[in-house]
Amino acid sequence: MMNIIQKIVPESRSCRLKRAMIPRYITIHNTANTSRGANALAHANYLLSGNSKIVGWHYTVDDKNIVQHIPTNEMAFHAGDGRYGTGNTQSIGIEICQNADGNYAKAESNAIDLVIYLMKKHNISIERVVPHKHWSGKQCPRKILDRWPAFINEVKRRMAAKVQPKTQAKVETVVTRYKIQRGDTLSEIAVRHGVELADLLKANSQIKNPSLIYVGQLIVIPKGKPTHKDYTIKAGDTLWGIATANKISVDKLMKANPQIKNASLIRPGDVIKIPLN
Ligand SMILES: [Zn+2]
Repeated sequence: MMNIIQKIVPESRSCRLKRAMIPRYITIHNTANTSRGANALAHANYLLSGNSKIVGWHYTVDDKNIVQHIPTNEMAFHAGDGRYGTGNTQSIGIEICQNADGNYAKAESNAIDLVIYLMKKHNISIERVVPHKHWSGKQCPRKILDRWPAFINEVKRRMAAKVQPKTQAKVETVVTRYKIQRGDTLSEIAVRHGVELADLLKANSQIKNPSLIYVGQLIVIPKGKPTHKDYTIKAGDTLWGIATANKISVDKLMKANPQIKNASLIRPGDVIKIPLN
């Protein structure tokens, strides 16, 4: 089983060019980072951090994981052939890790599985699986260039042998950051973002005492499934009426809206949270 972890970088990062692409090529890279720990998840975190600026690519592969960063229907700057270059505008970029604490041969083997999966999915022929060097002349993928024909032959061999593993994509949601504002409490923040307080605390293990948070402190908000929907109070609404219409108790509605101190003091135009279950 080949698992693809989708840690899609938020659109707010500049490596997300948000320009549509129909993938017609696959470009192979080596990360050129031999540090211990420079694996696929570390590269995912690098792109998530925004430190790569406008540079991005679609997948990073190591000996254990295949991680996707950018949707395959969106272009990314990885080929070094310019803003309108074919490599940048029409190719899916795959980085193969060289971290010293990883098994490089296994990483490359996983990348071959991914290449075959993407060729089939996007109807890309083997002639269009190319090294980064093809686009820009850069000596990349450094660990494969010398034996590029053998790399391509291995892709062909596996396709012919139909030994391609089943693929399964696992979406791993990306956390967002939040800066503590005056008057915030962690339980209110949890409610506002539709996450459980326990999950919020788990994601912020640096907070030893939940009641000791300070203004300006950065915390991460794990993405939960929506547990609330917004509702705008209309003239004539009562909390009891809203609770009944949504088949929940007034107590539960009050708990979901700690900003309401008095059940009879709601004003038209106020937005409240309605728990979904
Ligand atoms: Zn490269």
